[in-house]
Amino acid sequence: MSIRITQSKCVGCGMCIEACPGNLIKKNSDGKAYMLHERDCWGCTSCIKECKTGAIRFFLGADIGGRGSTLSVSEKNNISTWKIEDPNENVKIIEVNKNDANKY
Ligand code: SF4
Ligand code: SF4
Repeated sequence: MSIRITQSKCVGCGMCIEACPGNLIKKNSDGKAYMLHERDCWGCTSCIKECKTGAIRFFLGADIGGRGSTLSVSEKNNISTWKIEDPNENVKIIEVNKNDANKY
């Protein structure tokens, strides 16, 4: 499995469901997103980029030096906040102002 959905952070917007090319994410009876077939996820990250609440975490595998760390993305106004958390709960935050996107 490449992602995990924290349902307490999910607001049921459905953006991840629309974004998943494998149709792997569904809503439960509470309107919260969940993975239908976790093993089928190939980690394309489309759902993570669409989730504005940071409810979806992506597992950074050993093959890219992730060592069990996870990545989540949340967004408020024009600021995207990328949060990387390692297994020891050390956190790194990267903030990106989307207004600056065309500067690079
Ligand atoms: S990472 Fe890609 S394949 Fe996996 S659940 Fe998200 S959108 Fe679907
Ligand atoms: S995009 Fe995030 S908040 Fe919206 S349904 Fe999916 S997990 Fe929930």
